[in-house]
Amino acid sequence: MRHFAVVGSGPAGFYTAEALERAYGESARIDILDRYPVPYGLIRFGVAPDHQSLKAVAKRYDKVAESAGVDFIGNITIGRDVSVAELLDLYDAVILATGAQHDRKLGIPGEDLPGVVGSAEFVGWYNGHPDFADLDPPLGGPHAAVIGAGNVALDCARILSKTRHEFEGSDIVGHALGALDRSAIRTVTILGRRGPHQVAMTPKELGELGHLEDAVPVIEPGDFPPIDADEALDPGLRKSVSLLRGFAALEPTKAKRIVFDFFARPVAIEGDGKAERIIVERTALDESGAARGTGDTYAVPATLVITAIGYSTSPIADVAFEDGKFVNDRGRIADRLFAVGWARRGPTGTIGTNRPDGYEVADQVAAAMPPGSSSDRAGAAGLKRLLEDRGVLPTDYDDWRRIEEHEGGRARPGSPREKLVRPEDWFGVLGR
Ligand code: NAP
Repeated sequence: MRHFAVVGSGPAGFYTAEALERAYGESARIDILDRYPVPYGLIRFGVAPDHQSLKAVAKRYDKVAESAGVDFIGNITIGRDVSVAELLDLYDAVILATGAQHDRKLGIPGEDLPGVVGSAEFVGWYNGHPDFADLDPPLGGPHAAVIGAGNVALDCARILSKTRHEFEGSDIVGHALGALDRSAIRTVTILGRRGPHQVAMTPKELGELGHLEDAVPVIEPGDFPPIDADEALDPGLRKSVSLLRGFAALEPTKAKRIVFDFFARPVAIEGDGKAERIIVERTALDESGAARGTGDTYAVPATLVITAIGYSTSPIADVAFEDGKFVNDRGRIADRLFAVGWARRGPTGTIGTNRPDGYEVADQVAAAMPPGSSSDRAGAAGLKRLLEDRGVLPTDYDDWRRIEEHEGGRARPGSPREKLVRPEDWFGVLGR
């Protein structure tokens, strides 16, 4: 028997567990560990609540968790409750699938003013992440801005612009739905430091902006290069640009506007004790395609500023870390220690991009420890003994099922699922 620990129960963790389970069958036990009592990481806390079709991938992960050789062990933080060295003593291999949950910093003056929040915080707030339940983003002014031209910026702008009715069938948390319903925001400006040809926004996500009940996208037609230039773009990007061109032709007839401000690089955030405006410098692209400041600046009003410029992974004691992720060679960090997903590659790609990562690392593990081979490592039994000694109370997949039933059972038709947010709520359902 072999014992494997996968740290993190988001997409990267589950695809890795799936790959190991397929490679080893009954000759290995795979434990998926998570710092929260509930599984799914990015799927539960990161994917937008109105993207339920993306969240449905959790059904596939359920099948993995229900396999005989796979267990979920929640409520355990690696690096605090148990060290990586201890895990490596207990398990034949340890795979870090811890994602990337920290906002990258802009590095400009005023970034720490109240009213400036990172997208991880804002997304966590509306998705019921316990660390951000108390974020209370300022929604009382008419102007908000989102910095970045990627899909996370789109998620944030869309969530700020939807009506209560448009959240039907989502799993947005009650505190966010109530606050957004009372929001006074009428304009959300998306600031892209480069142009429409350089967006990191994908067509499906962009297309949604054209169908909002109460909000309309607005773009300055002069920001586009001549239309012939679109032919040189990759098909996906060409489609995004064509959607953006369509937005530029729309009449802003709805109550709310999502304004795309391209060639706009934030240089400072200003305000009297809180964010009130972003000072933006007009840019032009240099020969390498990078944004270069032109020296022309102007102010964009915003009492809520969301930075959506990418993420970094949380470091873990004694694991080499650089540029926001673990130092690794094709996923290998050190002997028997691996990284997958955003912890390995950085924060790019779709949910499905994590699948080949997981399978590649499982292949490396299987090459070093062929299926059918064995060791005398203690695995979950040893881990649970250690946790008991330290007063840490782990949760298992049956506990998650009870929490899930509770959340699903409380949902009313036409209303969002009533997602539990705080650890005490989760443990309340479990009677602990
Ligand atoms: P992203 O796609 O890398 O986009 C980051 C954006 O921030 C880029 O436009 C980048 O501009 C800009 N940026 C970076 N540093 C900046 C700075 N200092 N000042 C101004 N702008 C700056 O990252 P993301 O939006 O966080 O998304 C992460 C990954 O998750 C992506 O692969 C994304 O597609 C995926 N995702 C998918 C979905 C979905 O499928 N529905 C939803 C959300 C996220 P430059 O290009 O100029 O660097």
